[in-house]
Amino acid sequence: MSRLETNSIHIGKEYNQTSAVVTPIFQTSTYLASDNLDEYVIAATETKHPEFYHRHGNPTNSQVAAILASLEKTEDALVLATGMAAISTAILAVVKSGDHIIAQQSHYSGASLFLKEFLKDYDVDITQIDQTDNISFSEAIRTNTRLIYIETPSNPNLDITDLAFIGRLGHEKGITTMVDNTFASPINQVPAEFGIDVIVHSATKYLGGHSDLTAGAVCGTKDYIHKVWRRSLVLGASLSPFDSWLLLRGLKTLALRVHQINENALQLAKWLSQNNHIKSVIYTGLPTHPQHELARRQMKGFTGMLCIEVAGSTEDEQYNRAQNILKNLKVFANAASLGGVESLIVHPASMWGSHHSNQQKKTAGINRGMLRISVGIEHIDDLIGDFRQAFEA
Ligand SMILES: *Cc1c(COP(=O)(O)O)cnc(C)c1O
Repeated sequence: MSRLETNSIHIGKEYNQTSAVVTPIFQTSTYLASDNLDEYVIAATETKHPEFYHRHGNPTNSQVAAILASLEKTEDALVLATGMAAISTAILAVVKSGDHIIAQQSHYSGASLFLKEFLKDYDVDITQIDQTDNISFSEAIRTNTRLIYIETPSNPNLDITDLAFIGRLGHEKGITTMVDNTFASPINQVPAEFGIDVIVHSATKYLGGHSDLTAGAVCGTKDYIHKVWRRSLVLGASLSPFDSWLLLRGLKTLALRVHQINENALQLAKWLSQNNHIKSVIYTGLPTHPQHELARRQMKGFTGMLCIEVAGSTEDEQYNRAQNILKNLKVFANAASLGGVESLIVHPASMWGSHHSNQQKKTAGINRGMLRISVGIEHIDDLIGDFRQAFEA
């Protein structure tokens, strides 16, 4: 099979050894073992064996992983309990103490914390650079650099990192490259096509798509996934059977959802950018985005993520107006997370309030008059109408 719409429904069905058309929830921690001890040894040691013990694997997890590997065009994949479990386990399968990582100046907040606080304690050095400047990646390379960790489009300010450049650089210098592809989803961006080695996801977002589960995924070569799986056995963040089943269900409509979300977001971004209550709209699909051309080269669609800066003569005034807009919106829910069928909106400066200093927020491009929107699949007229009534209120 080849087309992604078909693959996301049919790949990995062989892991369902029942006659149920829909893969069941294998709600069990353990599986009957073979009486043949040679076979038992294989089950106990084989990577991701789907029917031995839940931390090792589960049939639904195996099917979800097979679908994700096909969408991301990698040899293999592993699913874990959350996006952060995927990110931290994936990074720990690349670096050890004494190594150096090149990362971006802005990342998902949990990834930032892991890189800057936790890994520092384990003697892993981090250089964070402006990801919109290719040269700064090359300049940051040291003899002990093992990993280039990127995220594009980045959270929350939608900067684009040049995937083809990073892919080439990694191969030239023998450095592993890893990208957080959560914001784009494999419908809009396939980093492996640009030579990126490892793709990580918060499957909580677009892949699940209904804001009813948490999950994470790591996609890469068979050898590498084996390493990640070995670490996951001891770190222990295995994906629950029920969440895995919900994720499998969500993946079947991934392409449909993301296409509709792309379309809604572009229309909303265009409408907002012509409204005088808004100072600016940051959306990778608008020609006004400073990296729009690069986005067009590496993305097939521009996602449902956009940021708006509310109009106002001072940051305080912008902040107050942003707060009023949040209060008056009825369709858009003021809630963390993204990528679901329902539209969400957050105030990034508050969401990252406790984890980042004001200086860190400035460097990451977050100001107090900014709102981040995750567009859903509601009717576009209702989404625009909701902003219209919130501006009038
Ligand atoms: C949400 C998110 C994560 C973390 O995922 P969890 O499932 O919440 O652990 C990582 N990266 C990005 C870009 C995210 O949006």
